[in-house]
Amino acid sequence: MHSAATTGAAPAPVAAVPAALLLVVLVVVVLALAAFGAAALRASRRRARERHGAARTDALTGLGNRLALAEAVTARLAAGGPVGLLLLDLDGFKEVNDTLGHAAGDELLVQVAASLCAGTGLPAGGTSGGGTPGDDPAAGAVTRLGGDEFAVLAAAPVTAAAVEVLAKRLLAALSMGDFSVAGVQLDVQGSMGTACSPADGTTAGELLQHADVAMYAAKRGQLGVVRYDAAVDPHHGGNLQLLGQLRTGLSDGEFLLHYQPKVSRDGGALLGFEALLRWQHPVRGLLAPGEFLPMAERTNLIHTLTRWVLMTALQQASRWRAAGLAVSMSVNVSAVSLEPGLLGIVEEALALTRWSAADLVLEVTETAIIADGPGARTTIDALRARGVRVSIDDFGAGSTSLAHLRGLAVHELKIDRQFITDLTDSPDDDVIVSAVIELGHRLGLVVVAEGVETAATAGRLAALGCDELQGYYFARPLPPAEALAWVRAEGLVVASTGAVAPAVVD
Ligand code: C2E
Ligand code: MG
Ligand code: MG
Repeated sequence: MHSAATTGAAPAPVAAVPAALLLVVLVVVVLALAAFGAAALRASRRRARERHGAARTDALTGLGNRLALAEAVTARLAAGGPVGLLLLDLDGFKEVNDTLGHAAGDELLVQVAASLCAGTGLPAGGTSGGGTPGDDPAAGAVTRLGGDEFAVLAAAPVTAAAVEVLAKRLLAALSMGDFSVAGVQLDVQGSMGTACSPADGTTAGELLQHADVAMYAAKRGQLGVVRYDAAVDPHHGGNLQLLGQLRTGLSDGEFLLHYQPKVSRDGGALLGFEALLRWQHPVRGLLAPGEFLPMAERTNLIHTLTRWVLMTALQQASRWRAAGLAVSMSVNVSAVSLEPGLLGIVEEALALTRWSAADLVLEVTETAIIADGPGARTTIDALRARGVRVSIDDFGAGSTSLAHLRGLAVHELKIDRQFITDLTDSPDDDVIVSAVIELGHRLGLVVVAEGVETAATAGRLAALGCDELQGYYFARPLPPAEALAWVRAEGLVVASTGAVAPAVVD
C-alpha cells in the first residue's frame, strides 16, 4: 500500500508536470496554429487580392483593364455621380507593329499609357498605374481595354465641356509627345470618342458602347474628338429603323434630287445647277439631307447614295442637254466618299449618261480635304486628271489653314453661307468675302457665293467680283420641271447646245 501509497503519492507530481507541460504545449500548438492560420489566411487573402488585382490589371502597362473600368463605372453610377468616359484608339498602330515588330509596339503602348497618365495627373506604371479605378469616386483613371485602345474615366467634376477639354488635351499631348521606340521617333495620333452619363448612357455597357461609336465616328471622319450623338448612331434603336428604311427607300424610289441654279455675277445667265438630295419619307414627309445623311455616312450606304445621286443628276443633265440646255452639273460628295473608289463610280456614271467630265463639278467640303489629307488629295488629283472639276464647298466654315489650298487640284471655291448672309450689314464679313474672292482669283479659281438671299447681297458680291451666285434670292432648290420653268420664266441667257428647245424637256 505504502509502496502503493508511495507509488500512489509519487506519480501525482510526475503526472502534474506532463499535464502542465501538455497544457503549455497545447497552448503553444493552439497559438502556433492560430498564428499559422492567420498567416495562411493572410496569404490566401493576399493571393485572392493578387488574383483580383491581376484580373483587373493590364499586364503590359500596369493600368486597370476593361473589367476594372466596367466595375469602376458601375460603382460611380451606383453612387449617383455623373460619369465621363473617353475612349482612345491610336491611328496607324498596326503599321508600328508590322514595320518595327511587336516589342516596339508594346513599348509604344507603355509610352502612350504614361502620356495619358501624365495628362490626367495620375501615376504611371506599376500595379497602381493610371489610378485604381473605383477607389475614389472623384478621381480619374486611365485603363487599357486591349490592343491600342485606352479608356479614361474623367475625374470629378464631370461635365460634357470638361470631358471635351480633357479629351482634346490628351490628344494634343499625344501628338506633341516625344515617342521613340527601337531608335525610331514616332508621330502618334489618335481618335477619341466621349460619352457622359446620364445623357449618353446610364449603364457601364451603354457608356462604353456609345463612346466606342463616337470614337469610330472620330476615326472615320479624322475628327480628333467626337462626342456620342444618338442622332447619328447607326446602332441606336430609332436610327437602326431609319437605316433599314433608307435601304428600302432607295430601292423603292423614295429619293429625289432638287436642283438649285447657279447664275452669273449679274444674274443674267444660267451657268449650272447644284443637285441637292431629298428623301420623300412615307411617314415623315420630305426630309432634308441633314436629317439622314450623317447617319448614312456612318455606314456603307453612303457609297450607294453617292452613286445614285451622281447617276440621277447626270441623267437629268443629259436630258436637259439633249433638249438644248447647256449647263454644268454640281454634285455634293461626302468626306467619307472621297476615296479611290469614287473614281470608279464617277467613271461609270459618266459612261452611262455619256456626260462630259468637264461639265461635272464635284463639291467637297474643306474639312473633308483636310481630314483625310493625302488620301483625299490623291482622289482629287485623279478626278482632276480625268477632267472632272472639283469645288471646295462651305469654304471658310472649317478651322483650316490656308496652307491646305497649296497645290490642291481644285477649280472652284464656294464661300460658306455664314459669310454671305449678313454681308451687307457686317463690315467684317465684307472684308473676309472680298479677301477670299481676291485669294481665289489669285490662285486661278472660280469663286462662287452660296446663300445669296437679297438683291443687296447679290449687288455687293457682283461689285466685289464674285464669279457665280447661288441662293434663295434667285431660286430655291427645285424639282426638275420647276427648275426648267424657272429658267424660262426668268428669261435667263442659257448657253445652247443647239438641240431641241429647252421648253420641251423636264
Ligand atoms: P451645300 O452643298 O452647302 O448646299 C447648300 C445648302 O444651302 C442646301 O441645303 C440649300 O438648300 C441651302 N441653301 C441654298 N441657298 C440658300 C439660301 O439662300 N439661304 C439658305 N439659308 N440656305 C440656302 P440642303 O439642301 O439642306 O443641303 C445641306 C447640305 O447637305 C449641303 O450643303 C450638302 O453639304 C449636303 N448635301 C446635299 N445633297 C447632298 C448629296 O447628294 N450628297 C452629299 N454627300 N451631300 C449632300
Ligand atoms: Mg454644295
Ligand atoms: Mg455649301
